[in-house]
Amino acid sequence: MTLQAFSQRLRDRVQTEVQLAPFTTWRIGGPAQFLVQAETLRDVADTVAGCRAANLPLYVLGGGSNLLIADEGVRGVVLSLHAMKRMQPFGNKVLVQAGANLGTLVNRCNQAGIGGLCGLAGIPGSVGGALAMNAGGRYAEIAEFVERVVWLNPQGELESLYREEIDFAYRRSGLRFGVVIEAVLSGTHADPAQLAARSRQIMHEKLSLQPYQEFSAGCCFQNPMGHSAGRLIDLAGCKGMQVGGAKVSDRHGNFIVNSGEAKAEEVLQLMQQVTARVQVAHGVMLRPEVQMWPARDVLSLAA
Ligand SMILES: Cc1cc2nc3c(=O)[nH]c(=O)nc-3n(C[C@H](O)[C@H](O)[C@H](O)COP(=O)(O)OP(=O)(O)OC[C@H]3O[C@@H](n4cnc5c(N)ncnc54)[C@H](O)[C@@H]3O)c2cc1C
Repeated sequence: MTLQAFSQRLRDRVQTEVQLAPFTTWRIGGPAQFLVQAETLRDVADTVAGCRAANLPLYVLGGGSNLLIADEGVRGVVLSLHAMKRMQPFGNKVLVQAGANLGTLVNRCNQAGIGGLCGLAGIPGSVGGALAMNAGGRYAEIAEFVERVVWLNPQGELESLYREEIDFAYRRSGLRFGVVIEAVLSGTHADPAQLAARSRQIMHEKLSLQPYQEFSAGCCFQNPMGHSAGRLIDLAGCKGMQVGGAKVSDRHGNFIVNSGEAKAEEVLQLMQQVTARVQVAHGVMLRPEVQMWPARDVLSLAA
């Protein structure tokens, strides 16, 4: 595999064999063959063009809060937009770059009296990742606030999409097949003090129910239609199940925590065991919410 496909300007900045575990909230995962930390749209465009030219797989890294990266790491290029994090509120809208932290965005919107996004309080990660995953929960999901998104589409073309043109679904969107660059999000006019209070309330609720202080990737499985995955997992008796350093949280059944030196393979095995138990107990097939690098089918693993 070669770096010659990249422009000289970019080549000087490509890092090789970079451990990815510290970039994830699970603290799991092997090295990226190449890591590019983009600072500008040009960096992103050059990286995408280089990958296309050299036929290298491209992985876009946000806050790493919904990622299970293989112990062997990934071959190809991991592109981080962490440094692209400007945000500019105007009226009841905000223009924000993909690398911005979602929590910081929520706070900024609260201060600017932009209502609605406070419902996303407590969700870790970046704005790009939140758009790619249509992050949300009981009180809101990010798609509700999208006016438009600028991305490099899977063909490598810069494109601006209105919300209606984006296939947002439950904890998914087609944006994860390209690179989100920036977005305009739109809320309602509201009182900053009330928004801040609401965010605090939601954060408090999350802290009381979820193992926030431990290494995890949030909910491992999507909620099946009409069910709570966490409740199904609890009822199937999975709480406390463990494979190596990976453990089903005692506090929230849908969280798998890294209680030590967990390997990705151990997390996968535990996910597979939980899936099987829930299937037997409830006749419901759980689907992973976490994204796997490289893509894996959790059901195909040996028990
Ligand atoms: C303690 C905890 C609590 C959580 N609570 C919630 C919750 O309440 N609701 C919820 O929805 N999620 C929750 N999550 C999961 C996670 O925070 C969200 O899915 C988050 O939106 C992922 O964003 P990220 O930037 O970390 O993305 P990453 O984990 O880095 O990536 C996730 C996916 O998005 C893609 N992606 C990232 N950036 C871009 C980009 N710029 N362009 C295109 N694709 C991109 C990646 O390639 C990958 O496919 C929680 C996680 C933790 C650890």
